[in-house]
Amino acid sequence: MVNYSDAKTLVVQAAQQLTTKGYLSATGGNLSVRISGQTALAITPSNYDYMKMTPEDICVLDFDLHPLDGTRQPSVESAMHAAIYQVRGDVNAVIHTHQVYPSTLAIINAPIPALFDEQVRFLGRAVEIIPYAPSGTGMLKKAIAKHVGNHHNAYIMANHGALLLGHDLERAMHNVEVLEKCALAYLLALCSEKEVSKIPLLVREVAFAKLRKDQKRVEAGSLTVGGE
Ligand SMILES: [Zn+2]
Repeated sequence: MVNYSDAKTLVVQAAQQLTTKGYLSATGGNLSVRISGQTALAITPSNYDYMKMTPEDICVLDFDLHPLDGTRQPSVESAMHAAIYQVRGDVNAVIHTHQVYPSTLAIINAPIPALFDEQVRFLGRAVEIIPYAPSGTGMLKKAIAKHVGNHHNAYIMANHGALLLGHDLERAMHNVEVLEKCALAYLLALCSEKEVSKIPLLVREVAFAKLRKDQKRVEAGSLTVGGE
């Protein structure tokens, strides 16, 4: 039998770190990692306190959502996670949060334009809003699968929360923090009612090209990813 303990331990550690930092709270949100070399993922269970979670509570599923390991009920958003891994060969970790500032932009339908270099370098050209669909439905899974094909690593889910992708869990967690900063800055800027300035188009394209280069390296099986 395959040993999933490393993947399960990583998921628990990340869930608890994100809870400690306030990005996950109560039982809201969910996160997963791709099981290396397999069409499977390790994901947090449904409706279970992150701070009580141990590796035994993590569910391992194949991409058709058949259970491979674990006894708890998997997250209701498991289909959304599986769909992302199938569309994006460069993504090995997915985090869905209900973090406050992107959730605020999610209820005023305000996508984040390219405001900062590091935003585009890690998250993509813009943080788009994925149209609303109820949690755990095929409609939501379809909407997500359609949007993530644009190679961005952060999305806002209308009237719901945020979705962060990364080539590993560490980068996906880093992206949670980059998104929170950008969302808060943008929200404050909107409140000021002054004109919001964006980075120059050429700078945006250079930063996005670096992100795409990293993604192609990961897809090609090379783990060396530039960090500047
Ligand atoms: Zn949610």
